[in-house]
Amino acid sequence: MNNQLQEKPSILLVDDEKANLKILSGLLKDDAQILLAKSGEQAISKAMELRPDIILLDIIMPDMDGFEVIKRLKNSAVTSSIPVIIISGLVDANLEQEGLRLGACDYIQKPFHSAIVKARVALHLKLLQQRQLLEQLALIDPLTAIANRRKYEDTLKVEWQTAVRAGTCLSLAIVDVDYFKQFNDTLGHAKGDKALEQVASVLSEQLKRPKDLAARYGGEEFVLLLPETDVEGGKGIVNTCRLAVESLQIEHPGSKTSQVLTISAGGITCYPKDEKGMEEVLNKADQMLYTAKEIGRNAVHWNEIINMVGK
Ligand code: GH3
Ligand code: MG
Ligand code: MG
Repeated sequence: MNNQLQEKPSILLVDDEKANLKILSGLLKDDAQILLAKSGEQAISKAMELRPDIILLDIIMPDMDGFEVIKRLKNSAVTSSIPVIIISGLVDANLEQEGLRLGACDYIQKPFHSAIVKARVALHLKLLQQRQLLEQLALIDPLTAIANRRKYEDTLKVEWQTAVRAGTCLSLAIVDVDYFKQFNDTLGHAKGDKALEQVASVLSEQLKRPKDLAARYGGEEFVLLLPETDVEGGKGIVNTCRLAVESLQIEHPGSKTSQVLTISAGGITCYPKDEKGMEEVLNKADQMLYTAKEIGRNAVHWNEIINMVGK
């Protein structure tokens, strides 16, 4: 689900009682890959790190109870959309209501019936699959069939938080087609559209890691998001993209740079340190793009920021 190659969905079971974890694992292990957490703290860190497809959560636990766990999961872009099923011995309508209000998708009472747990988990996995399918459609650019701006924005939030937490770097580039107005003016809008499709597919072909993302930001601008990628890596990939577009050999009689269609790109490699820095990263890349255009187009210009903090 999270990972298309992984056949089984992953379920994080959270309970402070070992015996409960054992019973639930036994029950679900044939249908899912099981992950375990024995406390609220552990549940949060495993959810952030492993991004399970679904979470089964106990409420009464020492230190951090299940309600607090839900609040924290819902507060982070990395984990907010993971469905949480509460499994609790608390038989109280108010508490059940509270769990659902906080964002749990279901509430199963203990002692539970095995068949009911299996059926409810299967139901929520099915709903998740349908939701992911709809989301995928809503996040695709119709012209180029690559990710759209919304998908980029959603992904940046997740990867930014992950980088802040893990202390890793992140590279981001804005790619803009050179003299594209003239391209349309000389060859027509239909050829312009066709060229954008070709550029989009070349850009996505160059990105090899599962977390990399190529998205159409708007018009003739694309953004490349490269988590855990340093300056050399980022610059290298984006330059490969530039060369790959050039070697498409799309005639561009209106260009003052080349006889064929080319792109320019502005890139940033940064170490995200807080949430606010995210708001500025695209502006910084845009400044680099401006320089790439100024130095003659068909160029990549890059900058590194060691600690990216917001204003
Ligand atoms: P520069 O090298 O400085 O980037 O110049 P430019 O002409 O590419 O930049 P400008 O922003 O002036 O023009 C962008 C053009 O991109 C204008 C618009 O007609 C064209 N464009 C934007 N979206 C689409 C689209 O979906 N299809 C087509 N065919 N053209 C588009
Ligand atoms: Mg532009
Ligand atoms: Mg342009």
